[in-house]
Amino acid sequence: MTGDTGFVILGSGMAGFGAANQLAEYGIRPRMYDQRPRPGGLTSSFDHGDGFVFDEGVHISFTKSDRVKQVFASSVAGKFETGKVYCNNYWKGHWIKHPAQVNLHGLPTPLVVDCIRDFVAASQMQEPAIDNYHDWLIAAFGTTFAETFPMVYTRKYHTTDATNMTTDWLGPRLYRPELGEVLRGALEHEPLDVFYVDDFRYPSFGGFEGFMHGLFPKADVHCGHRVTGIDPAARRIQFATGASAGYDQLISSLPLPVLVPLIKGAPADVVDAAARLACSQCVVVNIGLNRPIESKAQWSYFYDEDIPFARVSYRTALSPYSAPPGCGAMQAEIYFSDKYRPLEGTPDDWIDPAIDALIRCGLIGDRSEIIHRSAIWIPFANVIFDHDRRPALELVQAFLEDVGIASCGRFGQWGYTWTDAAFLSGEQAARRLVKAMAA
Ligand SMILES: Cc1cc2nc3c(=O)[nH]c(=O)nc-3n(C[C@H](O)[C@H](O)[C@H](O)COP(=O)(O)OP(=O)(O)OC[C@H]3O[C@@H](n4cnc5c(N)ncnc54)[C@H](O)[C@@H]3O)c2cc1C
Repeated sequence: MTGDTGFVILGSGMAGFGAANQLAEYGIRPRMYDQRPRPGGLTSSFDHGDGFVFDEGVHISFTKSDRVKQVFASSVAGKFETGKVYCNNYWKGHWIKHPAQVNLHGLPTPLVVDCIRDFVAASQMQEPAIDNYHDWLIAAFGTTFAETFPMVYTRKYHTTDATNMTTDWLGPRLYRPELGEVLRGALEHEPLDVFYVDDFRYPSFGGFEGFMHGLFPKADVHCGHRVTGIDPAARRIQFATGASAGYDQLISSLPLPVLVPLIKGAPADVVDAAARLACSQCVVVNIGLNRPIESKAQWSYFYDEDIPFARVSYRTALSPYSAPPGCGAMQAEIYFSDKYRPLEGTPDDWIDPAIDALIRCGLIGDRSEIIHRSAIWIPFANVIFDHDRRPALELVQAFLEDVGIASCGRFGQWGYTWTDAAFLSGEQAARRLVKAMAA
């Protein structure tokens, strides 16, 4: 037995520590359990001992929340880098600024003409029927642009066709331009700044994880504790180690498809619903070079189907201390999913195909430049907003409410949540429980 009463938090990522941070303000120090050997979840960073520090895929803070900014800044004692976001797109040997729909300048003329012609035709459609993301892309951008860029990217990043996806995740993510903006971006080089994120922050030292370090003391953290069962009636948690622990109040940031089958008495339809929630998985290929990388962009998107990765980020564009002096580092993200595109081979098998494509794009000269290569496997990366998501999620959330488990975070709410939203969702879960106790 590792403890018996009080607040317990499952998962030690941003959401778990958001909950712990809020509880600290009420004078409560919760117990926290995570299966991994150290706290941090997806925001962990890995120091390889050779001067290279890599995150679990690119992590940059774009938060507009003053509260989160303050927590992150105090975690690193004010030592963070700031900058203006600049990212670009690669398509068949061309590099253009993001978002591509307003930066067609420099692409082959026939493609630009077709994109503009179809954009005009789409703009003239009267109330087009939008049943899925594919329909939305055609209506927003016209057929040529939609099929050449975002539809291909959707298959690479979300691992499925746009027809299988809803549009309730879009928000400001895909910029819908006016004709004047498309024309200007086709005639001039980078005339507009319309990306939905502007400034960024990133810890100077030790990778993104630094933003969490000030939070670690706010919970009594037990790592190496994989949850294998939860009995909500007895208020007990079982761990793979054989240990068990009691609780009075339970907050969970575990992925819903992991959490629900662990709950004693979970009805079959709820377990089935949780299993229908789709998520991408990611192989992150880490590359260290023996020379600097001069990149204005912090990251790039890749649209060619024969390039395995969807995104590449440049470590030293975030902090110069992410690589040894005079060296450069980048991370390439390749996406899979159990439901739509299962991983072929092992994560390490994707290092060489990624290097081949990085050489083809000109980001690496040749293999002699490479002084670090490794791969990270992320089993839960991005929620896939397919048509199963909403009904399945409603069923699961109602059940968790019934059994008194406050679920939060990217995979506890099954949303397109960034670090700040995950943190704030943990805080909100803690506030809800404390208020319910006081009522
Ligand atoms: C590739 C990638 C890039 C991203 N880039 C950005 C970015 O640039 N900016 C940004 O703000 N956000 C970014 N995000 C999103 C960000 O990572 C998440 O929003 C945030 O980290 C989620 O935190 P969380 O606590 O909800 O989940 P997690 O960090 O996943 O925490 C859940 C925890 O539960 C634990 N767990 C799971 N199962 C069990 C079990 N059975 N028993 C015990 N513990 C268990 C896990 O080990 C994990 O530590 C990115 C995400 C990915 C995948």
